[in-house]
Amino acid sequence: MSDADTLPRLRALLRYLRSSPRRLRFPSEDERIFQADYSQRYQLHIQVAGLLGLIALLLPIPGNYWLTPQLYLPTLRISVGSAVLLMLSLAYSTSEHARPRQQMLILINTVVAYATALLLAELQIAPLNDYYAIGSVLVIMGGFVVSRLLFSWGLLTAVALCAVLAMHLARIHADIETITIQSFVLCLALSFALPGTFLIERSLRMNHLQSRLLDLEQSDLRQAHLHLEILTATDGLTHIANRRCFDNALLQEWSRQTRSETPLSLLMLDVDHFKSYNDRLGHQMGDECLRQIAQKLASYAQRPGDLAARYGGEEFALILPDTAPEAALNIGENLRRGIQELAIPHPDQAYVSVSIGVATMIPMPGITSEQLVLRADEALYLAKSQGRDRVASYRFNEPAGGAPRPDHSPESR
Ligand code: GH3
Ligand code: MG
Ligand code: MG
Repeated sequence: MSDADTLPRLRALLRYLRSSPRRLRFPSEDERIFQADYSQRYQLHIQVAGLLGLIALLLPIPGNYWLTPQLYLPTLRISVGSAVLLMLSLAYSTSEHARPRQQMLILINTVVAYATALLLAELQIAPLNDYYAIGSVLVIMGGFVVSRLLFSWGLLTAVALCAVLAMHLARIHADIETITIQSFVLCLALSFALPGTFLIERSLRMNHLQSRLLDLEQSDLRQAHLHLEILTATDGLTHIANRRCFDNALLQEWSRQTRSETPLSLLMLDVDHFKSYNDRLGHQMGDECLRQIAQKLASYAQRPGDLAARYGGEEFALILPDTAPEAALNIGENLRRGIQELAIPHPDQAYVSVSIGVATMIPMPGITSEQLVLRADEALYLAKSQGRDRVASYRFNEPAGGAPRPDHSPESR
């Protein structure tokens, strides 16, 4: 499903969740994403709850030895047995495998810890049995709240705990007083824990939806920004780079080539007798002609860093980094011929033609890119003055270690 569909769906889901306080589950696909996100996000919580449980199990061992040495060994056996089980499940919970079984693990750990607390409370005498009785309540809070048990799993765990207590009471043939007190404590703890898990899960589900919405909205914004950037760099008529983009690219290439001290070539291209083309055939035909020329020009920007741009009106430019004068002149000549071969009929001559000025410089500190534009423009003027439909270049000799200086005036082909 596309982002465009997801955004309104998530917004509707969030509204629905807000307006219906008893709702928890999402539709299937969103539920799957929520469960995956939840199990990844709260993996650490299970481990923290497990570690706290482990500390609670091992902490009273020295106290047992000191306060009730006669019961030390049987209590130690139960505590250590339960601690080993807890450690195994903690080790398992760190694996990717355990992710889908996270809630089941919490259920098992909570039931085992609760059964341990009941056993130890039964075995011990005052005052340590009080510690284990309180421990059974803490186990429920740790399992339900700290481990982030989901509400549906909380209900299952509650049933399992009731069954464990019933079995325990039956096994010890508990009197009615013990049954009442133990059942009351369990029901009281569950009556806090279950609504707690419900409320926590609801707000976590809302947070999950909100953060997905935020991600999607941010990616929409990024796309709009990218689109705007492309729009501000593109010429509306010809869809190649515009003047603004050309200026930036030339500056960038100029400073890049200054560092590498390699030649940077620039071709300036002007459509010949375009005013009369427009006047005789109309602006729409003129626009179409400019589009065809732009497309041809763009096919000559082949390497990274090359840039074909509309310089303004019926003038175009081609930036060619790392290109020597001869190569630039060849490209200019091929381009001129390529445009001739487009065979766009012109009312004053057979086909539309272009004049091209070529300039090459090795950028150096102290010289600006405007010099390159001026020289390409000068060469273009020469091509025009020598009769149009030709390429002229402005060549330079590079003095050793110094700035480029002209060895002669523009020449033309
Ligand atoms: P030259 O050979 O010396 O370059 O002559 P020219 O007629 O091409 O040059 P001039 O500068 O006199 O005319 C340029 C024409 O380009 C004038 C204008 O109508 C036309 N032009 C500039 N921009 C556009 C455009 O976006 N669309 C159309 N259709 N025509 C344009
Ligand atoms: Mg012009
Ligand atoms: Mg012109």
